[in-house]
Amino acid sequence: MITYYVEAEQSCPECHGTGVVEHPAWRAYWAAHPAGLPTAEDDARWFSAQGYGTIPPEEWDCDECDGTGVLRQRVTLTEALAALGLVTP
Ligand SMILES: [Zn+2]
Repeated sequence: MITYYVEAEQSCPECHGTGVVEHPAWRAYWAAHPAGLPTAEDDARWFSAQGYGTIPPEEWDCDECDGTGVLRQRVTLTEALAALGLVTP
């Protein structure tokens, strides 16, 4: 028996295809200070109080898609055709 495979590709749901996500500390920062803090020193103090030695980058590569914005997986041709409604699984 021969099994045929195709590659399925979809936009990453975690980062919505951008390849980057907001750092959780920054999400908390913006939730607590929608307009930001007055000075960079205030920012540094706030992040230090949260346990960060330095201010982390606001965005970083998405772990789910390794920063590509796309998720790929190998599926059987039968599964792909069923997903497209072209055959009944
Ligand atoms: Zn992603």
